Amino acid sequence: MNKGYELSQKLFAEAKEYIPGGVNSPVRAFTSVDTSPVFIDHGLGSKFFDVDGNEYIDYVLSWGPLILGHCHPSVVKSLEACILKGTGFGTPTEIETEVAKKIVNAIPSIEMVRMVNSGTEATMSALRLARAYTNRDKIVKFEGCYHGHSDPLLIKAGSGALTHGVPSSPGVPASIAGNTINATYNDLEGIKKIFKEIGEEVAAVIIEPVAGNMGTVLPEPGFLEGIREVTKEYGALLIFDEVMTGYRVAFGGAQCLYNIKPDITCLGKIIGGGLPVGAYGGSKEIMSKISPSGSVYQAGTLSGNPLAMSAGLAILNELEKEGVYEKLNTLTTSLTDGLKNAANKVGVPVTINKVGAMFTLFFTDEKVNNFTTATSSNLEKFNVFFKHMLSNGIYFAPSQFESAFLSTAHTQENINYTIQISEEAFNKVKNI
Ligand code: PMP
Repeated sequence: MNKGYELSQKLFAEAKEYIPGGVNSPVRAFTSVDTSPVFIDHGLGSKFFDVDGNEYIDYVLSWGPLILGHCHPSVVKSLEACILKGTGFGTPTEIETEVAKKIVNAIPSIEMVRMVNSGTEATMSALRLARAYTNRDKIVKFEGCYHGHSDPLLIKAGSGALTHGVPSSPGVPASIAGNTINATYNDLEGIKKIFKEIGEEVAAVIIEPVAGNMGTVLPEPGFLEGIREVTKEYGALLIFDEVMTGYRVAFGGAQCLYNIKPDITCLGKIIGGGLPVGAYGGSKEIMSKISPSGSVYQAGTLSGNPLAMSAGLAILNELEKEGVYEKLNTLTTSLTDGLKNAANKVGVPVTINKVGAMFTLFFTDEKVNNFTTATSSNLEKFNVFFKHMLSNGIYFAPSQFESAFLSTAHTQENINYTIQISEEAFNKVKNI
């Protein structure tokens, strides 16, 4: 039984007095679905619970990190033990090396890794490193990919910026934007053309090897391979932004799934177990350019802090266990198959893109392989669908251009219920 949203609405009104838009990250405001957000009180396993007493099956999972669900016992235990010893010292601690070792062992392209506090910091620092290493300024990114909100990457970005129809933000100087070139996802010929024209000036290509921030969009066969080839040919670095896909689409990230070796990898989300984190890594040769072993400056008061490290380590230890990714895959396929069948049964055209435990249901019958095709989705249909699911206790991201995530805490029962309610929701959107 839906208990209404009275307290959430009251808290949102108050938050708007003190916090811009009432939120600390734009997509949380539910602006694109034209309603007000639910305020969450607590989470457990596959669910979270709002301040009005409504419960939801959570397919957002703090935007990806909670691959074991909310309050996984190993994470809680690890954090409890850590907090009693102090929350941070600004000195090296052993656990930082433990986490670094885990990452190096899991991801073959990484021999050394530097911890930061967010995905934004990871990509921003990776760009600086690539520019310093190549002694070039230009960056190539792809329309619809989101790499955080640093100036050079907030150019036709996806995620919140896409949803709000602001492809780039005021405040980003034209001189900085001019060094970022936008390419089209899955268009290898386009990339080759860019390199033919200005390849000698390109420091790096940065890409989400599976895009998650225009909704889930998979790389077509040969696309990532082609980019790897052309970057090598011109002496540019290839940066895989695996902030979302790292440990999600496979233990070793998308680069293991597609067998491509980038020069620099950015990580975040899962490796912090729900606490603020980011990381970037690569070969010893490249990473040793970073201060203090090299001259490329990058620092952080709270970088590698023990709480984020202990939550991350607990998660990585769980993910290493036999069968985890098979389970995630089976659950996710069961959900996406069920949603597709329900849509077909009702007669609503949808395209579902899925890899590992992430997917997006697009309200379009077009194949979605880039930003333009993603934006062919019918947003009115999405909104009605989203609201029906929400009011029946199913929390999908409040935007068409986001990915849904599953955790090991999700159950077949959760999935069956989601499919059942989706059929009602598809019936509601049928005639839009
Ligand atoms: N890169 C990717 C691929 C992301 O999905 C995100 C966040 N959704 C970021 C970078 C930025 O990370 P953060 O929000 O932690 O700064």
